[in-house]
Amino acid sequence: MIEAAQAVRMFRKGLALKNEVAGELAAHYHSALVDEVRAANYQRKMGRLHLYLAGEFGFCYGVDRAVDYAYQTVRRFPERSIYLTGEIIHNPRVNDRLRDAGIRFLSDPGGDERALGPDDVVILPAFGVAVSMLSRLQRQGCTLVDTTCGSVLNVWKNVRKYARDGFTAVIHGKVKHEETVATASQALEYPGGRSLVVLDRTETEIVCDFIRRGGDSSAFLAKFAGAVSPGFDPDRDLQRVGLANQTTMLMSESLAIGEMIHRAMIDRYGDDDIELDRHYRAFDTICSATQDRQDAIKTLLSEQSLDLMLVIGGHNSSNTRNLARLAARRVPTYHIANAGDLVSRREVRHRAVDAEPQPTPAAETRSLDWLPDLPVVNVGLTAGASTPDSAVGQVIERLGTLADDRRDE
Ligand code: SF4
Repeated sequence: MIEAAQAVRMFRKGLALKNEVAGELAAHYHSALVDEVRAANYQRKMGRLHLYLAGEFGFCYGVDRAVDYAYQTVRRFPERSIYLTGEIIHNPRVNDRLRDAGIRFLSDPGGDERALGPDDVVILPAFGVAVSMLSRLQRQGCTLVDTTCGSVLNVWKNVRKYARDGFTAVIHGKVKHEETVATASQALEYPGGRSLVVLDRTETEIVCDFIRRGGDSSAFLAKFAGAVSPGFDPDRDLQRVGLANQTTMLMSESLAIGEMIHRAMIDRYGDDDIELDRHYRAFDTICSATQDRQDAIKTLLSEQSLDLMLVIGGHNSSNTRNLARLAARRVPTYHIANAGDLVSRREVRHRAVDAEPQPTPAAETRSLDWLPDLPVVNVGLTAGASTPDSAVGQVIERLGTLADDRRDE
């Protein structure tokens, strides 16, 4: 059995056990309550709480597929050691379930991919892994289950084209995020390929200044230490630039960053189309699932008069943090990890929402009087792409309990 399985070293389209794991996945991640709310026009009245669910929320197609493949892997290789390179998605409960199923995480203390060999199975997460890690695992003969999302592969394809054509990939993303690390590594697939990661408009402004006027390359490299590819030379590598982004960034900010660099290139090289094409390229790399969730929040906020918004998702989940940022511009917003964070009708445990993009999440905090003392409270609810319906259902249940609970007054 092991020998037959070892003949195939890379699984990219699942392991032909979808039906076999469907029941287990439904038991762990499905919610009948969420289905009910969806069927009732995404609304539910619970005492004085009126709940409004965003039209798109929770598990995206990439996460759904990655978790499905992980369950199939456990079923397919019961007698072999199975590893994940790191978190499969940014949801602690989903990751813990996989640990409980016997999958070991190379990112956990003591994890070392150099120690793996042909008997080992390694699952690559939806964000993908860096080219160097993939090559190492292949060299060592591991069996690989690749769950890299198609939307991420699309970004990689474009970054490789930039590198092939002599353009530096400027990536709007978080420099330590697994997806951005993997995307930046794609530029190195071609000799002379370069990358630079920018977090926000402030960093982009520095890049734009350099494009327009040049400057002190040492100061530039000090500012972007760890965010540029090896051997980066801003005088040479900012002459021809192609835009890309981490798929979970805020669409409006990615567009603004693209426009800033476009303007800087026009200022430097003029607006003749042919000349400009030699210096600037861009393509849309926000994935449709991220876009749909961001759009759904905007729709919800424009159609309903909400008193507050709850956003459910892992604290290190980039797309969840961005959903919370969008909501917080309009209503008080609490980014919670799970139902247990709704401690009581007076107290909520949450992560403060970023005003501007931050490389790491803010620490957890507690707030009082989060639920206004009104005869009717309109609560909006959404969840990041790594949050299963089961977690959303638990929050709805918890809200139902708190709706008219006055014991802690
Ligand atoms: S957020 Fe988008 S790119 Fe990331 S896994 Fe989901 S669908 Fe794929």
